[in-house]
Amino acid sequence: TDTTTAFSLPFDTTPSPAKRAEAEREAILADPGFGKHFTDHMVSIAWSEAEGWHDAVVKPYGPLVLDPAAAVLHYAQEIFEGLKAYRWADGSVWTFRPEANAERLQRSARRLALPELPEAAFVAAIEHLVRIDKEWVPGALETSLYLRPFMIASEAFLGVRPAHGVDFHVIASPAGAYFSGGIAPVSIWLSEDWSRAGRGGMGAAKTGGNYAASLLPQAEAYEQGCQQVLFLDAEERTYVEELGGMNVFFVYRDGRVVTPELGTILEGITRSSVIRLLEERGHVVEERRFAIDEWRSGVESGEIVEAFACGTAAVITPIGRLKARDFEIGAPDAEPGALTMSIREELTDIQYGRRPDHHGWMHRL
Ligand code: PMP
Repeated sequence: TDTTTAFSLPFDTTPSPAKRAEAEREAILADPGFGKHFTDHMVSIAWSEAEGWHDAVVKPYGPLVLDPAAAVLHYAQEIFEGLKAYRWADGSVWTFRPEANAERLQRSARRLALPELPEAAFVAAIEHLVRIDKEWVPGALETSLYLRPFMIASEAFLGVRPAHGVDFHVIASPAGAYFSGGIAPVSIWLSEDWSRAGRGGMGAAKTGGNYAASLLPQAEAYEQGCQQVLFLDAEERTYVEELGGMNVFFVYRDGRVVTPELGTILEGITRSSVIRLLEERGHVVEERRFAIDEWRSGVESGEIVEAFACGTAAVITPIGRLKARDFEIGAPDAEPGALTMSIREELTDIQYGRRPDHHGWMHRL
């Protein structure tokens, strides 16, 4: 009477592998974070001197096989992009200005002596990946599927010259709402010892090396209690350039808006969209050199009333405070500016289909 006897159940309730995968995906989508979970598929397209672009495939997500002599591992011949797919209230999925990312990838390719991927191939790659992994596009407020196209020199050759063999891939990663606790102004640290890019360098290209160069100053920013690092021009250390991963804007009391001119900075898709929206509202937007002292004195005199950063990941973020070695601008508890918040709302409304897209910016997937 005190023994245990096993018996088999007359039915099987083990979830099927498909059901289990679905449950796993739902758990990830409920709290995706950023850049740590990846969808089931990826796109790959190969390029060689002899064949051009060829062998375009959508395949299961998985490790790359690279020769240890692959040029990218030694000479950093690499470029990438970042854009998002958004789920609208009706369930449809859209991306924002993918042609602009395709063009920027081409500009980056020219600077890194990589082959240019035609715009149609870039857009087709995104379409194929998002269509097959559509279930991975989250639907909660301000969430998205982050798309990461990238191109690497895969030729096994240690000579220093542009590679003759290159691969393009696209992977995707669900992204949660960037601001979990509401939109709080960020503190930024002024990098006075390190530069990101110099004249004639790679600053305008989206290439891994620029981000490698930003890691040490970014770590200093964290040590200083700041979330982002601000870079100045490399020659005079006088003019504001951009953050480690975002462009910057300054709003004047009289409605003028200033943003650093192009040249050594990344031309953000968000930056160009914000300029357009501001101009449509009648703001004069000046793209010019902007000295750190102009920011300082403008805030002191009350002429500059708002500062914000913008980029695909966080859309638009108010800048509350700049911390430098010998001075500070603003206060950590500053309220987000009115123009900052209303431009943010206009842009996210377009991206999430909550207001009409008069610019033809949205691309249905
Ligand atoms: N500057 C840098 C250095 C960036 O990495 C990014 C993010 N891509 C941006 C600006 C903003 O560009 P976008 O608006 O296209 O995301």
